[in-house]
Amino acid sequence: MTKPLLRVEGLKKYFPIKKGLLGRTVGQVKAVDDVSFYVNKGETLGIVGESGCGKSTTGRMLMRLLEPTEGKVEFDGKDLTSLSVGDMRKTRSDIQMVFQDPYASLNPRHTIEKILGEPLLVHGVKSAKERRKKVHEFLEIVGLSTFHARRYPHQFSGGQRQRIGIARALMTNPKLIIADEPVSALDVSIQAQVLNLMQDLQKEFDLTYIFIAHDLGVVRHISDRVAVMYLGKIVEVSYSEDLYTNPLHPYTQALLSAVPVPDPDFEKKEILLEGDIPNPADPPTGCTFHTRCSHMMDICTVAIPQLQEMEEGHSVACHLYGEISNNDIKKMEGSL
Ligand code: SF4
Repeated sequence: MTKPLLRVEGLKKYFPIKKGLLGRTVGQVKAVDDVSFYVNKGETLGIVGESGCGKSTTGRMLMRLLEPTEGKVEFDGKDLTSLSVGDMRKTRSDIQMVFQDPYASLNPRHTIEKILGEPLLVHGVKSAKERRKKVHEFLEIVGLSTFHARRYPHQFSGGQRQRIGIARALMTNPKLIIADEPVSALDVSIQAQVLNLMQDLQKEFDLTYIFIAHDLGVVRHISDRVAVMYLGKIVEVSYSEDLYTNPLHPYTQALLSAVPVPDPDFEKKEILLEGDIPNPADPPTGCTFHTRCSHMMDICTVAIPQLQEMEEGHSVACHLYGEISNNDIKKMEGSL
């Protein structure tokens, strides 16, 4: 069996809630609460959920742009959580991020040549000629032209700016790219172009992706496996095909029912999610989805469902499934 390129175990990020003049800690927001997953070399793991579910916080912790409260991130055999700041900086050339809004992350006063050349300079490419050559090469790889190197970020369309964001991520020859909602701000037609580009680059450069999105429709074609997050936890994880044909968790079923189907003869009933996402500073007890779930049972309000593997590679955290939960239900009803 191949060893995963990335393995995450028990990852948590709790933000303290402070009050008063003295800034006393009065509680905590569990933005990411005990998340574990792996990504094999060359595959794409989609991470999906509504805003505030902890998917972007998870992505940022993998690069240590945010320090985890607890947990372990193992990348290419190294425990990233125990690396010194200097060693982590070196490792960052192997892990790069692509952001939702490339404009916000591209310095408006710098030319594209300077922006794309910067990561090379940081990683020791001292010769300006060499940097320019590589910038030109990568502009062409992402479907732009060498003359674009002299332009500024505001002179590009949203799709072109995302191509620049992708080129910048590729400059240091990374192994893993964490793409945080990379196409959410783009028109649908441009989304497809950027997704196709990312798929081509994955093959060409043997890349591994973590693709974060709020929409199951977007990650469908690019992901080998998909993890669905709700209020800081993974509630279901599966091979892409299984998840889309046989979603188990009521939350996944609701998200999937909202994905448009291209066939006009196919009638699909949308499962409407009642209410808003609960306040993460005061999450519901038991299964945190119980306030919005149409299958809610008594046990759901008191016992936290654990991720259980139902079939090879397909795990779900829901009391509707598994032996243990059935016993728990009987216990709750007083018949055991
Ligand atoms: Fe719904 Fe209960 Fe399953 Fe949570 S554990 S998703 S409330 S059935």
